[in-house]
Amino acid sequence: LRREGGGRLLQLEGAAMSDMRLASSIRAELITALQQGQLHVCYQPKVCAESGRPLSAEVLVRWESPLLGHLSPATFIPVVERAGLLSHLTDWVLREAAVAQLALVKKGLPPRLAVNIGASEFTPDLPARISRIFADYGASEHLLEVEVTETSVITDTRQADSIVKALHARGIAVALDDFGTGYSSLAHLQACTVDTIKIDRSFVQRVAESGPDQKIVLGIIGLAKMLGLETVAEGVELESQRRWLAENDCNTLQGFVISKPLRFDEYCQLLQAWPSS
Ligand code: C2E
Ligand code: CA
Ligand code: CA
Ligand code: CA
Repeated sequence: LRREGGGRLLQLEGAAMSDMRLASSIRAELITALQQGQLHVCYQPKVCAESGRPLSAEVLVRWESPLLGHLSPATFIPVVERAGLLSHLTDWVLREAAVAQLALVKKGLPPRLAVNIGASEFTPDLPARISRIFADYGASEHLLEVEVTETSVITDTRQADSIVKALHARGIAVALDDFGTGYSSLAHLQACTVDTIKIDRSFVQRVAESGPDQKIVLGIIGLAKMLGLETVAEGVELESQRRWLAENDCNTLQGFVISKPLRFDEYCQLLQAWPSS
């Protein structure tokens, strides 16, 4: 487990707080956190590589715990998932996304949003769960994309494909997240018909230098094109990376060089800077 920031308890107890105790604190705190509004979401823009126009945003969860300090989702999501509580969090994120979508539509701004779905939640009940939540708010499922990591599709590729089909039937797009880092990435492309490949940041980091990573990314983009899939590069931090990816036909970019994850009003401001098409 990784720990960020200096929550009061962590400062008091210093390194004495073991990872196991942090995990049990996270479990104990999550429900309270959801009830007391300690969680919020940020929106990280995804932009057209060629024009820079914002297309959509990825919804990313944030947790400021009065007890544990600022917790990175990379730290608490796995704990929440192991505790069997991830569905509470995901339902909450989906509700946030539904509300945000309605606000974007009302403002006449691009309303597409992507939500991360953890491995343990990529189960046959997922499409109906999304439908129920979006129907409750009168939000449109066809403006939603789900990002699933490769590990979620690996266990049962036949089942994964039927879930993807059920999502598609509702107009929900599916992106394969962290592409290239999972075991047997190509088998996933063979087994289920996702719409988008998100090229993992670990490949993007050295994409502007000639070397194996650059060749791998060229290969991924070429493969995606042949399969009729969109490509998104995640974690684009440098202008040189942005330029190389645009020149080499990566469709969409996401990363700090474009924008960090933003609060909703900041995201709206970024969208408003672009005249509507
Ligand atoms: P991810 O889905 O791969 O999300 C991308 C992560 O990279 C985010 O970290 C984002 O803030 C960060 N990032 C974006 N651009 C850059 C960049 O240019 N450079 C670098 N170094 N990092 C960049 P974050 O928000 O801390 O989330 C970490 C992971 O936690 C996510 O990885 C995702 O797997 C998970 N996560 C976040 N929100 C949710 C959620 O609502 N549900 C689920 N199930 N998982 C979530
Ligand atoms: Ca993601
Ligand atoms: Ca990712
Ligand atoms: Ca990643």
